[in-house]
Amino acid sequence: MGKGSKSFVILSTITKISPPMKIVLHSNDESVLRYIPQYGQYLAFLLILLPQFGHFNFLTKKLHGVIMNVIDKIKNFRILELLDKANEITLKKHGNIITLERAIFLSWWCERGDCAFCYMSTQKKRIKDPKKARRNIYSILAEAEICKRIGWNIEFLAGGYGAFTTEEIKEIAEKIYEITGKPVWLNIGITTDLDKYGEEVEGITGALETANLELHKKVCPSKPQEKILQMLEKADELGFKKGITIILGIGEKVEDLKYLFEIIENYKIDRITFYSLNPHKGTIFENTPQPASLYYAGTVAATRITFPKLKIICGTWIDNLANIGPLILAGANGLTKFPLFSMFGNRYGKRVEEEVKWCGRKLKGTFTDISRLTKGSCDNKIKPFVDRYIMRCLSKARRN
Ligand code: SF4
Repeated sequence: MGKGSKSFVILSTITKISPPMKIVLHSNDESVLRYIPQYGQYLAFLLILLPQFGHFNFLTKKLHGVIMNVIDKIKNFRILELLDKANEITLKKHGNIITLERAIFLSWWCERGDCAFCYMSTQKKRIKDPKKARRNIYSILAEAEICKRIGWNIEFLAGGYGAFTTEEIKEIAEKIYEITGKPVWLNIGITTDLDKYGEEVEGITGALETANLELHKKVCPSKPQEKILQMLEKADELGFKKGITIILGIGEKVEDLKYLFEIIENYKIDRITFYSLNPHKGTIFENTPQPASLYYAGTVAATRITFPKLKIICGTWIDNLANIGPLILAGANGLTKFPLFSMFGNRYGKRVEEEVKWCGRKLKGTFTDISRLTKGSCDNKIKPFVDRYIMRCLSKARRN
């Protein structure tokens, strides 16, 4: 605990709400600290109560100042200033490498199936037997093998609720760890089974989607925000890294960044993935435009300036490749959401590499080197699936 902090132990017999806990109150303001010995118990009691009603705002004065400043700049269209500052910070803290990230999906079905923007919400009624929407495990592992060969990171293992059991997900994660030599991140929904995972898992992602609590209740009615945050707290206790995902363009306001930044700060988030809305047919957003490129970039830059060390991954779809340059200048460390097998080795993959080059960055891995697809060996059960992926890449590469 640093200078300017006080701590208290509040007993459950006093609060009747929580188990005994240690609350650390941080303040750089001497006038606040003076009152803590007298009123700290009451303040701590309030801090326990407030989260029951939503976000609680407990930021240092300095961080609060930074946040209000970046929000103000976005609202006044001073995006170039934000990009300039964010780029400087990114190069200083992270260097000039940009990674390619691949979310590996485990299934195409989700038991919740009612998030307003989600493709899986359009599939739920159509899929009578969820078991059939599970991917073949060897096909999942083959995707990991391809990622290893071309130098892409596996961003996380993603799956709809209820498609795989914890034991099955653990086994897949272990096998991927064996293939790539790197522990995986999970994005498997709200779970209370985190203690079942071990060294095969590096981090846990909470698919927050939006930090605005009211909007969250509307667009994600079956995955309550507080449960996601509780899971991230548990992940922290167990020593996992913590990530969140945010979708821009679903009705949030610039001011909502304040909530987002409170969450990043209070839950010690290590990594954030931003997506822009992909208006899927059959959802309420099908006729909604995707967010403006400079709004997206400004939001990422504001995040980078506020949290210099945070890892930022940005998603952009094949129809929005021109977003990549501004997003990298805004502070993205990695790029995601590409349909890998339709873009690899052809002009779309080349375009991604060009975007990275013209930001003065170096790409880790390749989007064009076809020879790397065949370099490497794998288990005989996985090989037919690997070969099939290679054929898909080659046929698309020839056509484009
Ligand atoms: S919980 Fe996830 S997979 Fe399921 S509908 Fe919502 S966003 Fe889609």
